Amino acid sequence: MTALLSTRNVETYYGPIMAIGGVSIDVPEGKIVCVLGANGAGKTTLLKTISGAIDCRKGQVLFRGEEVQNRNPDAVAACGIAHVPEGREVFPFMSVEENLIVGAWGRSDKDAVARDMEAVYQYFPDLATKRHDMAGFLSGGQQQMLAIGRGLMGDASLMILDEPSLGLSPLLTQMIFGIVRRINRERGITILLVEQNAVAALDLADHGYVMEVGRIVMDAPTSELRESDDIREFYLGKS
Ligand code: ATP
Repeated sequence: MTALLSTRNVETYYGPIMAIGGVSIDVPEGKIVCVLGANGAGKTTLLKTISGAIDCRKGQVLFRGEEVQNRNPDAVAACGIAHVPEGREVFPFMSVEENLIVGAWGRSDKDAVARDMEAVYQYFPDLATKRHDMAGFLSGGQQQMLAIGRGLMGDASLMILDEPSLGLSPLLTQMIFGIVRRINRERGITILLVEQNAVAALDLADHGYVMEVGRIVMDAPTSELRESDDIREFYLGKS
């Protein structure tokens, strides 16, 4: 089966420093794939390379079999890849609704956009009640909901999520991961997720990769990763 998204031997640098070196992953259509790893392992760099926020020096990013590496972020988004960045990056001085409208940039079917906005409000009722509030006044959890909602507004087929649990309580993390699962199942959106919360990520995803110092060191179905001694010791805090 060809993957919806693949990276092949991707190398990305910050100046002379190699942040990721030869990373190859596959994200099959309809699945949820997670990338685990400690701080500085290169997870964010991998996602930014996929979404065009930074260029790679070598390798390919293939989306539906087509090379998309080193295109600008708008062009990558137009292909159907929604990047929900670390730290949310909502527009603080715009309302919730205006942030969602920005997410629908480039779409001309107004009815479909309105339907998607209602779907976002159904997934995240908190956003519906605050639709006219400025995004900067939302809590961290609500800003994460808005960032995911904005990703949904682009009608993407692949959503890439960078540390959605960052700074959230376990309960809120569970709630947001539950919605990500529903988005995957109900809307058929393929998910690539980067997380430091290994428990939550392994529970959600079908397949996982583990990164260390810019390389993939493990690659297996999450059911296997959960049983691995190394994963249990280093990521799940069990021995
Ligand atoms: P975190 O969980 O902390 O976000 P990460 O796994 O996402 O970590 P990256 O942020 O991708 O890791 O960082 C990979 C490497 O690249 C690290 O060594 C980091 O210090 C370095 N790096 C990241 N951003 C920059 C930058 N803008 N300039 C220089 N080096 C950077």
